Amino acid sequence: MSLLDIHVLGSPVLREQTAAVGTVTDEIRRLVDDMFETMYAAKGIGLAAPQVGRSERLFVCDVDDVRHVFINPDVVTLSGRAKAEEGCLSMPEIFGEIERPELVRMRGTDLDGTPFEVEANDLLGRCLQHELDHLNGRLFIDYLSTFKRRSVLSKWEKAKSDFPGLRRTLTAKDIAEHHGGDEL
Ligand code: ZN
Repeated sequence: MSLLDIHVLGSPVLREQTAAVGTVTDEIRRLVDDMFETMYAAKGIGLAAPQVGRSERLFVCDVDDVRHVFINPDVVTLSGRAKAEEGCLSMPEIFGEIERPELVRMRGTDLDGTPFEVEANDLLGRCLQHELDHLNGRLFIDYLSTFKRRSVLSKWEKAKSDFPGLRRTLTAKDIAEHHGGDEL
C-alpha cells in the first residue's frame, strides 16, 4: 500500500465528473487500499477518487469504525434537513456550517460487485452525501452563502501556498498530529 497525494481546492480534477467503474480489477482494489491508507493517515472519515486525482466513480469512508467502499453510488432517497459543520481533506483547516438532507439512502456495489444499500443520518449520512458530491465535481463550499464562501476563499488564497502544485503530500507530522474536526 502507499500514501497518495491529496488534490486540494483549485486542482481541476476536483471539478470534473467521474466515470462509472466497470469490472473491479486488481488495480481498483489497490486504489481502494491506498485510499483507505491515505484517508487514515490524513485523519479523515471519507475520501473520494477525485481527491487523489482519479476519475473512477468510487469513494471510501469509515465512520464509527464501520468501513464502506461505494462503487458507482447513487442516491435512492433523501429526506429531512439538518445543519452541521463540515470540512474536507481537500481544504485543510476550512470548515463551514452546511445544510443537507438529514437522512439518505444510498446504493452502490462493493469490491465483489455485490449491490448493497445503506441508510444513514448524522455523521455517516452527511459523509455519504459529501463524498457523492465529490464524484459529481461538487464541493461543500458550493453550499455556503456568497458572503461566507468569499471569506473562506480568501482564507484559502493564503493557505494554498502550502500546497505546491495543489497537492497535499502527507508527512510524518500530519500522520502524528491530531486534527480538531472531521474532514471528508
Ligand atoms: Zn471532501
